[in-house]
Amino acid sequence: MESIVCNGCSLLCDDVAAEVSGKTVNSLGLCTLGHTHLEKAALQKTKQAEKDFEKAADILTTGENILVYGWTHATNEAIKEGIELSSLLNGYMASSIDLGATQVMEHDINASGLGIDLEYVRNNGDFIIYWGSDPSESLHRHPSRFAVLPRGEKIPEGIESRTIGVVDVRQTETMKMANHRLVIPGGKDADLLDVIISELEEKSSIKDKVLGIPGSELVGFVNGFRKADCTVIFYGSGVINSGNQETNLTKIAKLVEVQRNNGKEAYALPMFVQSNTMGVEKAVSGVHSLQRISSGEFDTALIVADDALAHLPGPAAKTLAKSHIVYVGPPGGLTDKRAAVSIHTADTIVAGTGTMTRVDMNEMEFKKWKASKEDATISQTIRKLTELVRKK
Ligand code: SF4
Repeated sequence: MESIVCNGCSLLCDDVAAEVSGKTVNSLGLCTLGHTHLEKAALQKTKQAEKDFEKAADILTTGENILVYGWTHATNEAIKEGIELSSLLNGYMASSIDLGATQVMEHDINASGLGIDLEYVRNNGDFIIYWGSDPSESLHRHPSRFAVLPRGEKIPEGIESRTIGVVDVRQTETMKMANHRLVIPGGKDADLLDVIISELEEKSSIKDKVLGIPGSELVGFVNGFRKADCTVIFYGSGVINSGNQETNLTKIAKLVEVQRNNGKEAYALPMFVQSNTMGVEKAVSGVHSLQRISSGEFDTALIVADDALAHLPGPAAKTLAKSHIVYVGPPGGLTDKRAAVSIHTADTIVAGTGTMTRVDMNEMEFKKWKASKEDATISQTIRKLTELVRKK
């Protein structure tokens, strides 16, 4: 087995290994999501034809309004190549990351120093709260690698040394490992945050049920904040995509501040799922294009490493499908099928080269291994396309 880096989600696990022998793919340490992703990527064929490059360059150079789109599953190096190609084409560079993620990165919470390395959480986090986030669905190894199970410098007994809280609108798998399970009505996150903040600031005291939660349970949860040395709130789509994002994030930031004012360590980190959300955010910040795509502004689209036609909301996907599409990325999916021309690349887990930015902003470098096909990376493919476009 060789050491690899997984790009099945934004955790980009680098403590895993794999081997491919014929059609058999074995892995060590990958979660089921990661293994399924690796298996698919390792068995894909990625033959590139010169005529496809020529055709793609023709389409891109004759297009009038060009959208250069995708990138969530591309490496940081490929994104850089993409920015160069887009400017050469006078195109519009946009990313397919969740609108929610873009809004979080534009919110003050992001500038207030609330973030921290996941390794720091493993070593120090003794009160862990999953708020509107359920890693058992999308970031499988988050609890086992970083936040719940592992031992750390100040966490000698692993899960026994930590207190876990989960706040969500329904019972979740993650709640099964929690000491505090708070199920609240949809859209009421800010109300609950208010109650906790006011309790911690000793401006009120909880007596009765709040949002359907018995008073004694809520008091127990608030005491968790009081007892903790290092609180970490992992907020997810329940907070980000609930329609009250602005208020929810402001109040989470306030809660962290209150903890800090009480002499505690406290942090808040987002739980984005798509593998290189943070890399895209850093390079293509603030560009969101749903309205422009839906309005039919683009007659030509270069779509990279993203099955945009499958992931975009219906009206935007329908309109985009009418444009001339050049697809660059691993084979398979609707966009690949509908494109006027597709140039297939290896998935980054197999390519084993380049970097992506983990959800806590750490740069993770992919590792070469026997299955690597260096000449078919997304980055190399975009560079070749750029050279052809330049010559036309
Ligand atoms: S948690 Fe994510 S990065 Fe880690 S092995 Fe699973 S899919 Fe891969």
